Amino acid sequence: MTHGGHHYIYQAIRFGLAMIGLVSTTGCGAVVSTDPAILRPLANKCSRLATADLANTTLISIAWGGGTTGIYPSEVFDGLDLSKFNLQDGGTLADRREEFEQRITDQINQIYCDWPQTNVLVLSSSDADKFDVDTKVLITQGVRPDGRMDIGEAEYDPCDIQHDNDAVIFGERIRQLAGAYTFDEWVNVFANVTAHEIGHTLGYAHIDRDHRTDGPDAPYIELMLDRHTMKEMRREHRFVAVQSSCPSQSSGFLSADATYDFDAPYSFGR
Ligand SMILES: [Zn+2]
Repeated sequence: MTHGGHHYIYQAIRFGLAMIGLVSTTGCGAVVSTDPAILRPLANKCSRLATADLANTTLISIAWGGGTTGIYPSEVFDGLDLSKFNLQDGGTLADRREEFEQRITDQINQIYCDWPQTNVLVLSSSDADKFDVDTKVLITQGVRPDGRMDIGEAEYDPCDIQHDNDAVIFGERIRQLAGAYTFDEWVNVFANVTAHEIGHTLGYAHIDRDHRTDGPDAPYIELMLDRHTMKEMRREHRFVAVQSSCPSQSSGFLSADATYDFDAPYSFGR
């Protein structure tokens, strides 16, 4: 397996259209559409958010059961089939479905709890129904419609100008690149790629490998690192480098990392 990666696309046209809508819609901060009291128990799991203004928090939902995404509006994607993901000690992720989905939610919330620049709450599906969520992440068994090897994709939104972005995770590509991982490793892989794509929707760009600050012995892998390997994906990720969600580069046309050939030394594999 020599090609792969996870990437967002920069959809200039789409973003341009969104900018037009921006005038009359979203400013800074998201709108919590119903009683924030429901959010409080979730927010209280993170000491930083326990005292935060929840009206200024981006609410994110994860869809596991398939459906559509604004990135590919004409496609209907299958839900993630956990029975296809083998566990090292036998069985599949389907044996621990509920625990798996909860752990993904908790771990992404922990990544963002530890990153003070942005207030984010990932809601479990039952909670998500109660709110006007800002950003929707579709975790699908599918692959990119054009056949590319990306394992994830998101709308890149420099400066987090709009909040209602979309992201999609391509489960079948992850399965193809992975081996039989432990439960915790599977949690890391899915939490990391999802948190990374959420990072793009919040305005964070990639950290170049030549400028990474997470050394080989660092406790965490840089979440926004360019071209993660599967070996890296199996470990816990965090924002490590100093980074702004409002990059100093001209925000209009940051080079999209839409395509790259994934060759050594960063080979995907076990
Ligand atoms: Zn990326």
